[in-house]
Amino acid sequence: MRSMRRAAPKRLHPPGLLERLLDRVRGRTQRLIRAGDDMPLLLLSFPSNADSAGDEIEAAYSHALRSLNPETRNPYAALFAALPALVVVILRPRNVCGCLGHHHPRGTESRLTRRLAADIGRPVGEIDLAYEGIREWRPQPLSRLAAGEAGGQFEALHFQAAVLAVLLHELEHLGFPERSEQEIRNRSNAFYAAAMDELLRGETGAGYGMASPAPRP
Ligand SMILES: [Zn+2]
Ligand SMILES: [Zn+2]
Repeated sequence: MRSMRRAAPKRLHPPGLLERLLDRVRGRTQRLIRAGDDMPLLLLSFPSNADSAGDEIEAAYSHALRSLNPETRNPYAALFAALPALVVVILRPRNVCGCLGHHHPRGTESRLTRRLAADIGRPVGEIDLAYEGIREWRPQPLSRLAAGEAGGQFEALHFQAAVLAVLLHELEHLGFPERSEQEIRNRSNAFYAAAMDELLRGETGAGYGMASPAPRP
């Protein structure tokens, strides 16, 4: 029914121009994060005012994750080998849909990622993370005592555990696209709980250790 259609207004802007210009005006920064030869490199792409979120994510991925007990990390032991060597992580404060992150299936990646993949001649993965949404996320009630003992560190530790849980969740979708949301979610929720427990214990335990060192034999 072509005659029923209203004539489309003449487009002055080529598709995507506005987004590209806004992006340029806002400015994005990129940072390459290395965690070890057995883990993918992450290329963070974030708004220019999100430097400190970039610092926190770098610390979480390249230090905190490695420092966790093997039992906490083991559920993800097979994941890294299933991923491309480079994964682009697009950071935004929040997602319009309210999600804390998404994986971007093959063919839906941003121009940045497609250009990188063409440049290096290898597949490049892509996910996004909503860092302010992750900061505000409260996956389960945590004991007030534990939170109290960690004092001002609580928020920083929560962010480390939470950003790793969401990152691993989205990476698992990328690496194992056939796995169900429920399976992946169960694993990332369990990871958050175990990591948070460990980080809190490390924080408070370290404090006690300093106050009353074990007697020497
Ligand atoms: Zn969403
Ligand atoms: Zn998911």
